[in-house]
Amino acid sequence: MSEVLVLVDHVDGAVRKTTTELLTIARQFGEPSAVFVGSGFDAAKDTLAEFGAAKVYRIESADVSDHLVAPTAEALAQLVERTSPAAVLIASNAEGKEIAARLSIKTGSGLITDAVAVAADLTTTQSVFAGSYTVQAKVTTGTPIITVKPNSATPEAAPAAAADEAFEPTISDAARAAKITERKPREKTGRPDLTEAAIVVSGGRGTNGDFGPVEAFADALGAAVGASRAAVDAGWYPHANQVGQTGKTVSPQLYVANGISGAIQHRAGMQTSKTIVAVNKDEEAPIFELVDFGVVGDLFTVLPQATEAIEKSKG
Ligand code: FAD
Repeated sequence: MSEVLVLVDHVDGAVRKTTTELLTIARQFGEPSAVFVGSGFDAAKDTLAEFGAAKVYRIESADVSDHLVAPTAEALAQLVERTSPAAVLIASNAEGKEIAARLSIKTGSGLITDAVAVAADLTTTQSVFAGSYTVQAKVTTGTPIITVKPNSATPEAAPAAAADEAFEPTISDAARAAKITERKPREKTGRPDLTEAAIVVSGGRGTNGDFGPVEAFADALGAAVGASRAAVDAGWYPHANQVGQTGKTVSPQLYVANGISGAIQHRAGMQTSKTIVAVNKDEEAPIFELVDFGVVGDLFTVLPQATEAIEKSKG
């Protein structure tokens, strides 16, 4: 069976959920081989094994891990050359997409970014033009390189050996031109990562700067908090939480938009969510055109009631 290379997305060995999704997808068309760059492999090994990585290529060289994306692309290109994999799967975040693009050039292969589904025959589904079209595409040249959005698959355990092998790529001087000088961990909120969360609760201008009810509702659901650009531009919430064309793209199981009108640039970042709910006091708000469930009402009344009901149901 061909190998499928899966680039592991992790922080010091804490494997992100997206990687377990990629391993699950990879098993449809080959044997997943994880590619682990940096330190912390011991912490990652069990998760990689649990979700079906038969092999792990461990790249610990500082020539790769102390630099930005270019050395990782070179290392992957060398692994592609060596293993002739059925495909390379990479998480669809800014870093992943840059690595994928560089890898595509280096290997002369086709690249598909932001897939929301990958079928067993490697046909991918993308949602484009702010979700107005769904595109099915397939790489026809070289090794298919595919970046996959978070929450595109449900991670399924399939225990495997995760037999690790140290891999020492040859990294060019050009690829080492930019070096990481400092890494600062993100401020911990206790909430899940916005792009990986199964539930996202967002607030817009309708919050009038008070995100309290939005955060309380999010916490009752174990959700991440998002914000519209209007809320971010007003300084009410950090840009890191902005959802939309110039913010993050999310695709959770459930997206709850509160006091958000539903502008096209906001939709671009959330309309592939599986179930969409909106709370808005204007029944004509465009967001209601795309929701599965809509509540016409004041978020300052609706959200505390919903939060209380959820807390009660927990007993
Ligand atoms: P508004 O459009 O002002 O809507 C507020 C809504 O809240 C209204 O529908 C109102 O009825 C409702 N409301 C008010 N009070 C209450 C209440 N008490 N209870 C319930 N509902 C209430 N926007 C993004 O979000 N993300 C982006 O990444 C983004 N990128 C952009 C890029 C470009 C190039 C441009 C030009 C714009 C971009 N925008 C983006 C901005 C976008 O066009 C909208 O201006 C923005 O999304 C509006 O935010 P909003 O829905 O919170 O505010």
